[in-house]
Amino acid sequence: MKAVQFQESGLSNLRVVEVERPRPGSHDVLLQVVEAGVNPIDYYVVSSLNVRPMPHVPGAEFAGVVVEVGDHVSDFKPGDRVVVYNRVFDGSCDMCLSSMEHLCRNGGIMSVVTNGGWAEYVAVPGKNLVKIPGIGWETAASLPVSALTAYHALMSAGLRPGNVVVVFGASGNTGQFAVQLAKMMGAEVIAVTGKDWVRELGADYVVAVNEAVGEVGKLTGGRMADVVIDPLGQETWATSIGVVGRRGKWITFGQLTGGEVTLSIPRLYSSEVWVMGSTGGTRKELNELAKLSHKLKVRVDKEYGIDDARSALDRLFSKQRNGRVMLRIGM
Ligand SMILES: [Zn+2]
Repeated sequence: MKAVQFQESGLSNLRVVEVERPRPGSHDVLLQVVEAGVNPIDYYVVSSLNVRPMPHVPGAEFAGVVVEVGDHVSDFKPGDRVVVYNRVFDGSCDMCLSSMEHLCRNGGIMSVVTNGGWAEYVAVPGKNLVKIPGIGWETAASLPVSALTAYHALMSAGLRPGNVVVVFGASGNTGQFAVQLAKMMGAEVIAVTGKDWVRELGADYVVAVNEAVGEVGKLTGGRMADVVIDPLGQETWATSIGVVGRRGKWITFGQLTGGEVTLSIPRLYSSEVWVMGSTGGTRKELNELAKLSHKLKVRVDKEYGIDDARSALDRLFSKQRNGRVMLRIGM
């Protein structure tokens, strides 16, 4: 079978190779991978992170069809369409016992601490699978990272109907889903992006980043936002913290433009602002997302074949990118 693999870090070392098809253990499922989402984590896995094993297969976000199940797997059968919850977790630590598998004390991210899903077949533990309805593969392959990250952040922020949510990077991988999910949860959504098509995802307003503070002020009558999502980091920090209202929550799960910022402590306590971190999501949340996934859309910039995985990673940080980059692997 074909797999995308590298022996040493670096995009130029990425190859498509022939390897043996994995054999599932008794608690595992063999999956034929159909589609993968391309995310910043995949870029970091290939270019800089300390990953194992080596040689290594990247791919943190993927969906496919069950081909074979181990003796102890009873919830799945060949032909089931599934997405993969991409956390390795022991199920026994205090985090796992409170359904926070993504924070498992003995865990990690699939594709970082194990091989990932950019291969025609992958063996994964049955407990990591979530069944999906008859949705498009590009939506399916956006659930485990993009949509789940957005959903968990909104849940963590305790979003309530009627809240004003401002989403920075609204046309990005997670931003697209933050907009849609916040709308479904009854919020009023202000999308910060130069891409007007975000309105098609349900954004009530689309504003440019350099006008965000003034526009959010106007749109909210000076009250500003209840929840601000900003995965962009350094470049947008001053603006995004500037649009948080009283008792509002600023929440991040990324640092695409850098991770060091200056925080004004008086700004925090005088308005009782919460600054929060979020990473991935829980298995329960991925199950919930799968159930509502028929209502989700994804704007795809370009879908590449498995042989063009390197071009797909190059495209991820291209200024011309206008939507998600996907990798079609099988069927
Ligand atoms: Zn654990």
